[in-house]
Amino acid sequence: ADFGYERVRLSDKQAKVDDVFRSVARRYDLMNDLMSGGLHRVWKSHLISMLRPSRTRPYQHLDVAGGTGDIAFRTLEAGGPETHVTVLDINEAMLRVGAERAGHKYDGRIDFVTGNAETLPLPSNHFDSYTIAFGIRNVPRIDVALREAHRVLKPGGRFLCLEFSRVDLPVLEKIYDAYSFHVIPRIGERVAGDRESYQYLVESIRKFPSPDSFARMIETAGFSHVSHRRLSGGIVAIHSGWKI
Ligand code: SAM
Repeated sequence: ADFGYERVRLSDKQAKVDDVFRSVARRYDLMNDLMSGGLHRVWKSHLISMLRPSRTRPYQHLDVAGGTGDIAFRTLEAGGPETHVTVLDINEAMLRVGAERAGHKYDGRIDFVTGNAETLPLPSNHFDSYTIAFGIRNVPRIDVALREAHRVLKPGGRFLCLEFSRVDLPVLEKIYDAYSFHVIPRIGERVAGDRESYQYLVESIRKFPSPDSFARMIETAGFSHVSHRRLSGGIVAIHSGWKI
């Protein structure tokens, strides 16, 4: 009976997440700029600078919870002619916006795949790198998604995760709390006409494990040399791990 309860609860969470992103898909990129004051661009650039895709050799990258394609496009710009990116997301509305943004610019070098981070419809030992940006906290079973990340990476492959984290300066924390609990839902209401979705996003950030316990989860999934760095006073963190 316990198991049945757990299953219902998890699929409830995923259904809620799906509703949120279906309703925000069209406004997603604008909202990111507005709510982070453009900072999400800096954080994403940082992630790509750690990734450093090969510019000369064939290189397979997987971006999970890839949404409207930001990380994918940046990886393709940073890589060489033989860099290929698979963008996977559970939500077709988000991927559709991504495909529209890409146009024909990356034809043959990018694939959009609808799928779940917990059960990747992709072969084992295939990718040189895996990223997930602002996605993992939405996944009901983080441990399962991490094991899947490990499975699809080649030996020597790299896992990178960009996610909201814990602000550790008391003054910044107060400002950040006020901003996220009051300002973000209000922007959500004004611009996207959807206060609830943005309220949910703020709450999901609070529930995410601390950077140290998340690092331990990554190790438990089988990754080595796990490390993390905090950006912007801990508003976000990038976790890194290697499959060896
Ligand atoms: N990575 C993009 C970015 O940084 O702009 C999009 C991040 S957006 C905040 C989170 C994305 O996670 C949404 O597109 C959502 O559909 C996707 N997502 C939620 N649950 C998922 C799951 N279980 N598997 C794959 N993607 C999921």
